Amino acid sequence: MNITLYRLAPLEFIVVVPRNYFLKFRGYVEKNIFCEEFTAFFEKMIVKAGLNAHVSAANTDSILFLAQDYKVKRTLLPKVIRPYYKVDKEQKVFEIYYTKDCDNEGFFEGVIKLFYEHEIEQLTLPFVAKYYQYTGLKPTELKFKYFKNCYGKACKKKQDPSYFKITVNPILAQYNLALLESTYIHELAHHEEMNHSKKFYEVYYHYLALGNAQDVCVKDYPCQIMYKIK
Ligand SMILES: [Zn+2]
Repeated sequence: MNITLYRLAPLEFIVVVPRNYFLKFRGYVEKNIFCEEFTAFFEKMIVKAGLNAHVSAANTDSILFLAQDYKVKRTLLPKVIRPYYKVDKEQKVFEIYYTKDCDNEGFFEGVIKLFYEHEIEQLTLPFVAKYYQYTGLKPTELKFKYFKNCYGKACKKKQDPSYFKITVNPILAQYNLALLESTYIHELAHHEEMNHSKKFYEVYYHYLALGNAQDVCVKDYPCQIMYKIK
C-alpha cells in the first residue's frame, strides 16, 4: 500500500491513503464513531515518516523543525572541542560543528536527535503550565524519549497514586505546535482514565475546550509533498 504524507504550508501536514482504505475509514467517520484504529494507523505512519526523515536528514543536508526546513551547515573545526550545534531561527540554518574525529553519519544523526530533544522540552513546558492552570493537573515526571509508534505515553503507579509520568516523543518538534498540544492533552487526560474509553475522550475534549486547542485533523488542506512511504 502507498501512503503519501504531505507537509502543509508551513505548519501542518496531511496523510493520503489509497481510496479503498479511505472508504473503509470513511464508514466509521460518517457514523460519527471515533475510530481509534484509524488514528493509531495514521499516527504510526506519520511517526515512521518522521523517523525516516530525521535519519535521512543527516544525508540530505536539511532538517525539519516546526514543519519548516532548516539547512544543515557543517563546520569542520581544526581543534578538538566539544562537538555542538547552533540554530539560526531567522535564517533557518542548523549549523553543526565537528572535528575530523566525528565525521560520520552516526555523529550528525546524534546531534540532530539532541537538537529535537532539547527543543521539544522548551516547546512542551508552556503547555504543562497552561494546562496546570486550567485543570490543576501536571505530571510529576515529564520525560522526552523517541518511540517508534507513538507520540506520547502516560504512566501511573498503583502503589503511588500521586505519581503520574508523561513522556513526549521529540519527533513532534518536526511538526506543528497544535499537534504537540493535542498530544500533551491526550496524555494528560490519561490521568483521569488510562484506557481510550468514551470517558477518556470526554475528558480529552473537555481539556481541549478549556485550552481552546485544536483536535488535530489531517484533511482538507492544500499542501506540498513531504515524503512517500511504501
Ligand atoms: Zn492514549
